[in-house]
Amino acid sequence: MKEVKRFITSSPFNVNTYVFEMDGELCVIDPGEDISRFIKDPVVVLVTHGHCDHISGIPELKVKKLYISAEDVPMLTDPVANLSRDLMDHPVKIELPWEDIDKHFRTLKAPGHTLGSRFIVFDGVVFTGDTVFVDTIGRTDLGGSKEKMKETLIKVKEFFEKIPKEWIVFPGHGEPATVKDVLRRNIFLRGNLL
Ligand SMILES: [Zn+2]
Repeated sequence: MKEVKRFITSSPFNVNTYVFEMDGELCVIDPGEDISRFIKDPVVVLVTHGHCDHISGIPELKVKKLYISAEDVPMLTDPVANLSRDLMDHPVKIELPWEDIDKHFRTLKAPGHTLGSRFIVFDGVVFTGDTVFVDTIGRTDLGGSKEKMKETLIKVKEFFEKIPKEWIVFPGHGEPATVKDVLRRNIFLRGNLL
C-alpha cells in the first residue's frame, strides 16, 4: 500500500474518505459529500458500510466500479435505511451497478454498526469504517445489532492481535492509529463492555 490520503467529507458528519492508488487505479473508500472538491478523475469506490454519510459523495464521482457488501446493498437506494431521510436535507439514492466487496478484496465481516459492515484490509492498513474507532466503537442502533457487535468485537480483537502491530487502522471518523495503539486505547477491545 502506497500513500493513503484522508479527506474529511460529509459535513457536519466529518467522514474520513480515503484515497489511494492501486494497480494504476484511483481508489476511494467511503466517498462522503463534497469529495469532488478533491477528486475529479474516474475512481473505483469501496464502501465499508451503507450509511448516507459514507456514500453521499458517490453521485459526484465518475465511478468505474462500486464495491459493497451484499447485506448493505439495500442502503444504496433506500433513504430510510441509509438514514439520509432523517439526517440529511436530501435523499441519497445510488442507482449504480455494484459488486460484492468480499469477492474482490480482503475483508473482515464486522456486523454490528450495520449488518453488512466490513473491514477492508490491505498490506499494512485496515479500514474499519464505523465499527471500530481508535478509542471507541460505532453505534448499534442505526440499523445494526448489539448482539452482532459483541461477536464482532471478539473477532476484531483476535484479528488485531494476529496482524503486525505497526499496521495502520483507518477508521470512518477521527484520527488513524497503529494497531498497537488501538489495542491499547480502545476500551471496548480490552473488555466486553457492551
Ligand atoms: Zn455509519
